[in-house]
This record gives sequence, C-alpha cells and structure tokens, in this order.
Amino acid sequence: MVTINENYLKLKAGYLFPEIARRVTAFAEANPDAPIIKLGIGDVTEPLPEACRVAMIKAVEEMGDRDSFKGYGPEQGYEFLREKIVRHDFQSRGCDITADEIFISDGSKCDCGNILDIFGHDNTIAVTDPVYPVYVDTNVMAGHTGPAREDGTYEGLIYLPISAENNFTAEIPDYKVDLVYLCFPNNPTGAAATREHLQQWVDYAHTHGSLLLFDAAYEAFITEDDIPHSIYEIPGARDCAIEFRSFSKNAGFTGTRCAFTVVPKTIKVKASDGTDVELHRLWNRRQSTKFNGVSYIVQRGAEAVYTEAGQTQVRKLIRFYLENARIIREKLSEAGIQTYGGVNAPYVWVKTPHGLSSWDFFDKLLHTCNVVGTPGSGFGAAGEGYFRISAFNSRENVETAMQRITEKFKV
Ligand SMILES: *Cc1c(COP(=O)(O)O)cnc(C)c1O
Repeated sequence: MVTINENYLKLKAGYLFPEIARRVTAFAEANPDAPIIKLGIGDVTEPLPEACRVAMIKAVEEMGDRDSFKGYGPEQGYEFLREKIVRHDFQSRGCDITADEIFISDGSKCDCGNILDIFGHDNTIAVTDPVYPVYVDTNVMAGHTGPAREDGTYEGLIYLPISAENNFTAEIPDYKVDLVYLCFPNNPTGAAATREHLQQWVDYAHTHGSLLLFDAAYEAFITEDDIPHSIYEIPGARDCAIEFRSFSKNAGFTGTRCAFTVVPKTIKVKASDGTDVELHRLWNRRQSTKFNGVSYIVQRGAEAVYTEAGQTQVRKLIRFYLENARIIREKLSEAGIQTYGGVNAPYVWVKTPHGLSSWDFFDKLLHTCNVVGTPGSGFGAAGEGYFRISAFNSRENVETAMQRITEKFKV
C-alpha cells in the first residue's frame, strides 16, 4: 500500500490567498463595474531590464551554434555569474565571501525549502510572527512541527513576535534555538534591521551554536546608509549564517527564475559522532544530486544585472517601486492611517485604524475603495491588526488607489 507524507495533511490549506480571491470574486460578481485595484500581490509588475533581455537573446543565439552550444552546466552555477556576484554584492561591501561559496539556483523560495534536506529533524526552529509562510510550511512538510493550532501557528515551532512595539525586529531569545529564520528587509512588514540588531543575532548564534538562515531577497530596496545589505557585513557571520538572495525582486526575475544561496565554507556543524562537517559540502552534494542548474540563458541574463547598463536599469526599477511605496505612505498618513516600512522595502505595513481586525479592514477597503491588500493576520497571529500594501504596481494604479483611500476613507 502506498503511504503518503502525512505532514502535508497538517498544513493549513493555503488559507490566505484563496480567501482573498474568494472575497474579491464575490464582491466583483455583486459589483461587476467596480474598478478593483490589487495592491496585494508580492510579484513585480514592470518589464525585465533591457540589459538582461539583450544578454539572454545573445545567449539564445549561442545555443543555436554548435561551437557555442551549452549542455548541462556546473550544478553550482557558471563561474562568470558567481564571480560577478561575489565582487559586486559581497567583496565591494567588505564581505569575505568567495565565488565557490555561491550556489546559483532557480529561486530563493526553492532554496529556503530545499535547505532543510541537509539538517536533522531534532533542531529547534524559530521564525518571526508575522512571517514569510514558506519558512513555516516547508518545516511542516519536513515533519519538524506538530499539528496546527486554532490560530494557525504550529506546535513545535518557536514564534518570535514582531510588531510596532519592538520596531518589527524580534527580541533575541534568552534560550537556545538551533535554526533561526531572519528576513531583512522584511516581507511582510517592510522593516529593515540595523547593524546592531544583526550583530546581536550573530553573537547569539555564536553563544548557542545556532545557525541563521538569512533571507535578503529585498536587499536592493535598502535606501538608508547604515542598514547592512548582507549578513556577512556583520563580523562573525561567516561561521553561523547562510544567506538567500534572488534576482526576482531587484531585476524582475520572478518569471525568469534565478537566485543564489551563500554557504560559507567556514560553517561547521558537529555530526553525532563528534566530527565537524562543513555545511558547504552537504549543500554541494544535495544540489549536485537533486538539481541540474539554472539555464545558461538565464544565468547570462542575471550576469547582465552587474553591467553598468544593468545596474542603471535595476536602480531605476527599484526607484520606481520605492516611489510607489512613498506615495502609499504619504497618502495613507493623510488619511490618518499609521504606516510602517516602505522605506527599505516594497511593502507598506499598515496599522488598521479604529482597532479593526485585519480582515474587517480588508473588507472595508474592498467595499469602500475597491482596493485589495493583504490582511496581516494571514502572515501570522501577531500580524492581526495590520495590513500589507504592496508597491508592486503601476504608478497609475497606486495613485488612483491612494486617491480613493484619502477621499473615501477619512478616519
Ligand atoms: C519574493 C521573495 C523571495 C524570492 O523568491 P524567488 O523564489 O527567488 O522568486 C524570497 N524570500 C521572500 C521573503 C520573498 O518575498
């Protein structure tokens, strides 16, 4: 008899986005002329930078010529891309990372889930609340949790609440946790972490022998000078942190697919027989067994991000989304609504007015302004009373949505 991975049955059946879709569809059917604007999505809207497209077209042509054709590439990614990454993203910021510590992949989401392959099942695991749901659900699937509770949290996971009270940076635990997921700049709250906060985490990891899983997918949105772009800007992080990066949000690769994970060779974990094991070796083995690399064409496209033209175009994209975020912050403030984030991230995290629940605010915004956002409670119990508005949209949609809110939603 075939058995299944019963851990999947523990998953709260993708509640958030289906429920949003259900409510939007019901409203749209009852009000077929309502000009609904969706500011709920975590996907980019603007086209791929020209530099990336030109590089990919050239790569396609190379694939059509017997002499320049490429078959399987190196599982870890082409050196031309890994070299550019380390020089531009790490060494230029004083981070001591080398090209052989970079693993090119088809997405950070995948890497965040796949990384669990190299860990045991007895680790204690901490996530923030609210949280990017991938960290939680992949641990549920791997059997690292108990069942879900009524409020959507899982038994066996440690939730570190983040809210306005702690500047959306978790209080560092005074007990040992083995694996700690951190995401800065943060999805969903849009918060960034200071150097001091990250140093505290690195110190914590050293004290307790913990590993930090640092998701920096929104690194390119950092505008404030003193905010670290990489965990490796923090002394000591090379021994205790894996970093996830992606071309999805900076260069609009959500549909093109390219990302990378940094596993420094200096991270060592003790095996049960007491020997030191390099995580780099395990991840390399995992990737070369279960993954055959990202297409040559896409890696050439990602490489173009690091050209002068690519940098100019990526910066322009980021500025565009951040200007959307600024408009959202400004207009919501005019409407008397408290906002957070949106300065170093494409997300504005809104305190729901009048103590409305996240879902009540969702309904009110949908019904009075025909604007769709994401209820904060969908990202975790501590997100209740908050609401995420995404800056990933056209300027026109953002301006229209905000105009409606300031006009109709005076509080
Ligand atoms: C969008 C996003 C990613 C990127 O995922 P990809 O699979 O590379 O597209 C990673 N982490 C967070 C928190 C994100 O929001």
